[in-house]
Amino acid sequence: MTPTPLQQLADSLHDCQRCKLAKLGRSQVVFGVGNPHASIMFVGEAPGFNEDQKGEPFVGAAGKLLNDLLASAGLSRDHIYIANVIKCRPPNNRDPEQDEVETCKPFLLEQIQLIKPTLVCTLGNWATQTLLERKVGITKVKAQAFYMKDFVLFPLLHPAAALHQGNLLPTLKEDFKKLKEFLDRNTKPTEPTSAAPTPTAPVLNIESPQPAQMDLFG
Ligand code: URA
Repeated sequence: MTPTPLQQLADSLHDCQRCKLAKLGRSQVVFGVGNPHASIMFVGEAPGFNEDQKGEPFVGAAGKLLNDLLASAGLSRDHIYIANVIKCRPPNNRDPEQDEVETCKPFLLEQIQLIKPTLVCTLGNWATQTLLERKVGITKVKAQAFYMKDFVLFPLLHPAAALHQGNLLPTLKEDFKKLKEFLDRNTKPTEPTSAAPTPTAPVLNIESPQPAQMDLFG
């Protein structure tokens, strides 16, 4: 069977040597996982130890917390696609460096173009700033919708931040409630079918860009 364009992109990055992370101890490239037709995509920062070992984003402690938060918003990993800005683990989980982000960003954008999500939830500062293309703090923009050219961006705190700083957990839970409210407001009711009920991904129907929100960056 001919590989899909998304699979072709993954294959093209399989042994990526484009930046120094290839030589700094990564075990493998962590491309992304999930429903390739998802209307909702989550984007994190970079693989950590567990992700590097398993080859999948968000499989460690932050991933477990993310699964609980997704459930609280009526979502599961089957509904979404999940990837990172950076596809290789930075040594000792250090922050990604500018040249690494610049090298990897085009592949994230290509992934988004191929999956065509209606909504992209960025987790933390790195993913948010990369896709908003603005150096704006996550606490200023989190839990609100930004109408981009091809999708709506909904920034959220990174689950790992709440693991390191327990006092952020209630805020993160509250923000996933806001995500659920946003989804409820923008999800088309699904047609009843005679088939056995299977979990279906929400069909988002997002309208009305709100240009006034750009004032937030003022
Ligand atoms: N943190 C991230 O940003 N991405 C992962 O895949 C895991 C932890």
